[in-house]
Amino acid sequence: MTPHVPMRALDTLWFQVAGTLCNIECTHCFISSSPTNRSHAMMTLAEVETRLQEARELGVREYYFTGGEPFMNRDMIPILGATLKQGPATVLTNGMLLPARTCAQLRELSDACEYSLDIRVSLDGFDRNSHDAIRGAGVWDRVMIGLRNLADAGINPVITVSETADGIRNEEGRLRFLDLIRSFGFTKPRLKVLPLFRIGAEEKRSRAYADWERIEVLAESDAEVLQCSSCRMVTSKGVYVCPILIETPEARMGSTIAESLRPFPLRYGACHTCWVEGVSCRT
Ligand code: SF4
Repeated sequence: MTPHVPMRALDTLWFQVAGTLCNIECTHCFISSSPTNRSHAMMTLAEVETRLQEARELGVREYYFTGGEPFMNRDMIPILGATLKQGPATVLTNGMLLPARTCAQLRELSDACEYSLDIRVSLDGFDRNSHDAIRGAGVWDRVMIGLRNLADAGINPVITVSETADGIRNEEGRLRFLDLIRSFGFTKPRLKVLPLFRIGAEEKRSRAYADWERIEVLAESDAEVLQCSSCRMVTSKGVYVCPILIETPEARMGSTIAESLRPFPLRYGACHTCWVEGVSCRT
């Protein structure tokens, strides 16, 4: 029988704020974001504010924004302004749309609010060649500009690295990445490593999940570790169980957050990755 994850306590709310639109097309993207993928639409400030209001009443503690590329959303700064009035916020970005002006606005927002604002920038290699092989030609150079602008604005981002990066699973690889982050001028490097989910573009790049890669039995202690026992994802199409399964129609749990607060069957290959790796998309 398929195990179900209970909704323990909703503490984290995600927004697919840029839908599935991105200015690049990474070969490992588990939701296949691209400049032409409109499966989930860009969210408006009004849509986000409606869910923020509901989240406040439900006691949500922190907020994450992803896409696609969140900074393609022209309302991103006002959206963060509204969010930071009620809790800490984190933006997951490819780092390409961070001109000095945007970084200064982010710093101003952060300074003006009592809650913290974190920026997470993705890097998938130690150098231009390895990074751009995954993310596309010319991306590395633009991310370097974005990182320098963040450093100049006094913002210390979290660098997110997926397991496509050579050697990142071992200690030596991690130390090499920490050195790379220091080289941008960040004296306190912050690194998050994420496993690959074999869905979307990654399924074509490597392989699909095998039939045996499923959760068969779920201990109560394991259920508590899974992020879907304490998070939900809001997109333009409704509320989904988590940030990973937004292209799985059965993972849409309702139109409102309240409707989504119920157990969910863990019958998908990606659930196996979460369970085996103990992964959370939170920082
Ligand atoms: S993919 Fe991971 S976070 Fe999403 S429902 Fe499955 S176990 Fe939970």
